[in-house]
Amino acid sequence: MTNTDTADPVGTAAQVVALATAGSQLVRITVNTDEAAKAVAEIVTRVADAGVVVPIIGDFHYNGHLLLVRHPACAAALAKYRINPGNVGAKRRDENFRTIVKVAVEHAKPVRIGVNWGSLDQDLLTSMMDENASRSEPLDAKDVYMEAMIESALRSAALAEETGLRHDQIVISAKISQVQDLLDCYRRLASRCDYPLHLGLTEAGLGMKGTVATTAALSLILAEGIGDTIRVSLTPRPGGDRTEEVYIAQQVLQSLGLRSFAPQVSACPGCGRTTSTFFQKMAEDIQEYLRTQMPIWRDQYPGVEEMKVAVMGCIVNGPGESKHADIGISLPGTFEEPKAPVYVDGKLRVTLKGDAIVPEFLGLLNDYVVKRYSAVR
Ligand code: SF4
Repeated sequence: MTNTDTADPVGTAAQVVALATAGSQLVRITVNTDEAAKAVAEIVTRVADAGVVVPIIGDFHYNGHLLLVRHPACAAALAKYRINPGNVGAKRRDENFRTIVKVAVEHAKPVRIGVNWGSLDQDLLTSMMDENASRSEPLDAKDVYMEAMIESALRSAALAEETGLRHDQIVISAKISQVQDLLDCYRRLASRCDYPLHLGLTEAGLGMKGTVATTAALSLILAEGIGDTIRVSLTPRPGGDRTEEVYIAQQVLQSLGLRSFAPQVSACPGCGRTTSTFFQKMAEDIQEYLRTQMPIWRDQYPGVEEMKVAVMGCIVNGPGESKHADIGISLPGTFEEPKAPVYVDGKLRVTLKGDAIVPEFLGLLNDYVVKRYSAVR
């Protein structure tokens, strides 16, 4: 999801392009004001003019029913609408919700009903809490909260279908910020409906905490076969790179063996056998090189995203791990002879020496990509 001001079409289009180029297959933008809604069609055009094909989804809260009606060009340009049923108004909730759905029907757009722990429909929650309190054996309050999340999503989906949206035009999400609660919620949802489910740990937080919590949550749910699309929601550092979310999402899917997005670099953690940081720097350089090449390679060399590269620190596991990779290099550890054997498809191809090991290895890597993945075409 972008974090630019959507009313700025140039900046927002640039961020959509950056996210899509990093590999994002869906990009969501906030549509919160008339100015933002007016900018949407231009954003979509700018992204297309940049040669980037990616669905752009509008995120609506509070005034979506007004904006989508007032700005038909916005409604037409977006690929999907996200509606939070907890944020479509209090008194006229259903009416506002139906208005958005009618626009979606008119423009043949799918809708994601995105329930969020932090903005759950309070009327629904209150009535379910009251009902629970009158039971002879009341459920735990958290259980009721969870049920209210699911009820909000499923009732809204039923209302959307009654209003004319097709069953297969509805996606559901129910985001929570605690890992085990999220797993519990999605298990319940998956057992009660067959709508595609969008996963995400909401408000995951900063840096390592956000990354680890998100990875844990998504992995647990995906490993159960639940989930169709995913989002990583990190709090960026000031001026931080928004594409980090995309790379984490890709890495989760690739680590689970569900999808491949970019060649994977295996590198050893290092130990007392190699006091040099050379192999760490080399692994980092190669990872970065692969990342920058992928937007070009993705089209030219189909299948390259499944390539495995090894960069190892010494002779103990170096040759073995390198042989398991498509292409790997085993660097010399401390006191080892200063040479680095390179293995290609499990066989020793060449032994590199001297100061130009990194560029020479990158040359071999490029040759391998061209030779192996051109043939796939
Ligand atoms: S490959 Fe060598 S340097 Fe790397 S962790 Fe293993 S023993 Fe240590």
